[in-house]
Parts: sequence; structure tokens; C-alpha cells
Amino acid sequence: MFLGHFGVALAAKPVAPRPSLGTTIMAAQWADGIWPVFVLLGLEHVEIAPGVTRVTPLDFVSYPYTHSLVADIVWAALFALVYGSVRKDWRGAFWLAVLVLSHWVLDVVAHRPDMPTWPNGPKLGLGLWNSVPATLVVEFALFGTGAWLYARAAPARDRLGNRLFVTFVIVLPILYLASVFGPPPPSERALAVTGLLGWLFVAWGYWIDRHRVRAA
Ligand SMILES: [Zn+2]
Repeated sequence: MFLGHFGVALAAKPVAPRPSLGTTIMAAQWADGIWPVFVLLGLEHVEIAPGVTRVTPLDFVSYPYTHSLVADIVWAALFALVYGSVRKDWRGAFWLAVLVLSHWVLDVVAHRPDMPTWPNGPKLGLGLWNSVPATLVVEFALFGTGAWLYARAAPARDRLGNRLFVTFVIVLPILYLASVFGPPPPSERALAVTGLLGWLFVAWGYWIDRHRVRAA
């Protein structure tokens, strides 16, 4: 899942107005944000295997530290604890924990049964990725709903706030469609390095949010 994670990060605005969009993206994408680091360190493993699902050519051989339910519960708690103690916004902290965990839930929907419950535990996956049309419907529905909720809850404060947001909701789907319909990545290492670029969207989220109306 890709756009869907951004969808829930955007959708958090009405219920958790204080965390920046950058922070909610970081939370919803946490597992994928740290995953490239674990792959590059050789602690988690992925193989490029075109055909493994219709949508993605990636075979997630092992990713217990970033994508198991138990690990994600720990990450969610840590994320909420750090944010809550720094910002003294425990309501926001709660929703950030929900966002970190939402990543695991959405990935279970999308992935084939490769999502560990705990390291070496049983693996789950509903396999949405076996259907390209169904995947696109779910990804775009989540992203579109999230974008609409965010835009309503945090109107643009200036012209830049509008432009940054509109570019964001156009560029992300384009990159997503390019990854779905484009060629598979040339190597696992290249995939991991490109994966780190995902952090740019966190930065973009912070930039957007500074130019949107801040709720109390
Ligand atoms: Zn993921």
C-alpha cells in the first residue's frame, strides 16, 4: 500500500488538529520509512520477483522489525510517547499511535500473507495486490477521502499553502502509478535507497502544514 497510508495521514487532521501533516505522514509511513534502513543494514530482506503479485514485484522475504504487528505496537507506543512528551498534546499522540498501527492493518489488506504478527510468528495478508483494479480503487479512495478531509479541516492560509497542497495531491498519484505500471526496480539496494526518498514527503508535509490554517 502506498497512497492509502498518505490518505490516513491526511484524514487525521479533523480528529488530531495539532500534529503537523509532516508528523502524521511520518507516523502513517513509519514502517516504510525505517524499512529501507533495515534492508540496507541487512537486518530485513526483500527480493525483486516480478509476478509475485499483480501490483508489486517485491517479495518481502523478512521484515520482522518494521512490519510485524508486535514491533509496530512498540513503534506506535514510542512514537506517541516522544511526540506527547515534546508537544504536550496527548490527544494528538494517541492518534499518531493509531496512524503508526494503521500502516500494519492497511499492509495486511494489500500484501499477500507475508505480514508477520510477531518475529517468526504466523503471517497474514489479504492479497488485495492480486488485483490491479481493486488495488487502485482502494488506494485512490483512501487518498481522495484523506485529501478532502485535510483540505476541509485545514484551509490554505496563503497562496503557497494552496499550491503546495495541490502539487502534493497530484505528484503522489503520478509517482504511485509510475511505480505500479513502470518497470521493477533494478536491484534491492536501489529499491532501498529510493525508499529513503519517502522522507521527502514528510518534509513536504511539514511545509504544506505551515501554510494551512492551524486549529487550536
Ligand atoms: Zn509497509
